[in-house]
Amino acid sequence: MHLKSLTVKGFKSFASATTLRLEPGITCVVGPNGSGKSNVVDAIAWVLGEQGAKALRGGKMEDVIFAGTSGRAPLGRAEVTLTIDNNDGALPIEYTEVSITRRMFRDGASEYEINGNQCRLLDIQELLSDSGIGREMHIIVGQGRLDAMLHAKPEDRRAFIEEAAGVLKHRKRKEKAIRK
Ligand code: ATP
Ligand code: MG
Repeated sequence: MHLKSLTVKGFKSFASATTLRLEPGITCVVGPNGSGKSNVVDAIAWVLGEQGAKALRGGKMEDVIFAGTSGRAPLGRAEVTLTIDNNDGALPIEYTEVSITRRMFRDGASEYEINGNQCRLLDIQELLSDSGIGREMHIIVGQGRLDAMLHAKPEDRRAFIEEAAGVLKHRKRKEKAIRK
């Protein structure tokens, strides 16, 4: 499984539809300060269902919608589509390519789609839950997170690693079983 492409439209600094094609392996995004590199990462977190404005470096959720510049009017909606190569069947769905779309309007309502079919956020969370991507999976490690990890107590650091490795849920299951 790997990320194939990301299309952003009306999301933060990306007013016009912009598609980034991603190949297997490492992708580096380079550019001057303020050119939108971190916005690309925010778009990935957002399309995977991020609900916290702060995690997206904004004050309120509406801040993800293109706010306009001196030469361009603000937009009314943000839309991001992430396409995932599923040839290895890592996602439990009968498609070799899976596109997840999130769209949000200024009234705050979000719409989600899987391969163009409208769905709930829960459907996306369930689709991704055992794949190692999705919320709280540490696939996105921000600068602050890195500091927190380096300064954490050993037991907290262990919890980070266990969660990233997918061990945490098994440990919780084991503890529950022992209690019974
Ligand atoms: P650095 O190298 O400093 O980390 P960066 O390339 O990561 O920079 P970003 O933080 O991704 O830059 O982008 C910041 C830019 O995005 C700012 O110019 C900001 O005005 C713009 N921006 C953020 N939200 C919006 C929005 N809703 N509408 C328009 N522009 C926005
Ligand atoms: Mg940045």
